[in-house]
Amino acid sequence: MPSSQPQKNMTHDEQARFAALTKEVLARGAFRAQVIDAAAVETDAVFRDICAANACGVYGKCWMCPPDIGDIHEMMAELRTYRHVLVYQTVTALEDSYDFEGMTEAGHAMNRLAQDLRRVVADAGFTDTLHLGAGGCRLCAVCAKRTDEPCRFPDRAMTSLEAYGIHVSRLAAAAGMKYINGPDTVTFFGAVFFR
Ligand code: SF4
Repeated sequence: MPSSQPQKNMTHDEQARFAALTKEVLARGAFRAQVIDAAAVETDAVFRDICAANACGVYGKCWMCPPDIGDIHEMMAELRTYRHVLVYQTVTALEDSYDFEGMTEAGHAMNRLAQDLRRVVADAGFTDTLHLGAGGCRLCAVCAKRTDEPCRFPDRAMTSLEAYGIHVSRLAAAAGMKYINGPDTVTFFGAVFFR
């Protein structure tokens, strides 16, 4: 739900443009969407260690994932160059907690939304943005990194909130959202940063 609270560091024009953008993101299937001050985003380099533990099995196997995506400290510093961030989440009902097919489809739906938002944000006249999604880039069925070839879609490839060291549960709280949305649901977060 878009906030009716005025943002302190926004002009009236920015407030109106972000309100319209937020409405559009919700219309495209996000469960919640909210623009907040980018300074409220908390980061921690420990998330790079969590990636390196490779629980997902993709560490070093995708151009948009660590370690190839870049130095975590430089990436966290880059976030400090942005003024605002649109935080959005998808919440999908599952048949039960073992519904891996449902989780996978929910992840694909989140990725489609994140990619759609590139055009939505550009069409709204915003430039100089950074789009971050949930998990690694899933644009290609098999990332070109695995065959040691260049990224096939550098303009559309998307890295994750975690790769930038963003503390996602605190981001959710800062945006007034729940990190977990009840039993038998799966929640994904995305963000768009604006200068
Ligand atoms: S666009 Fe394709 S090749 Fe590029 S990072 Fe994403 S999955 Fe890999």
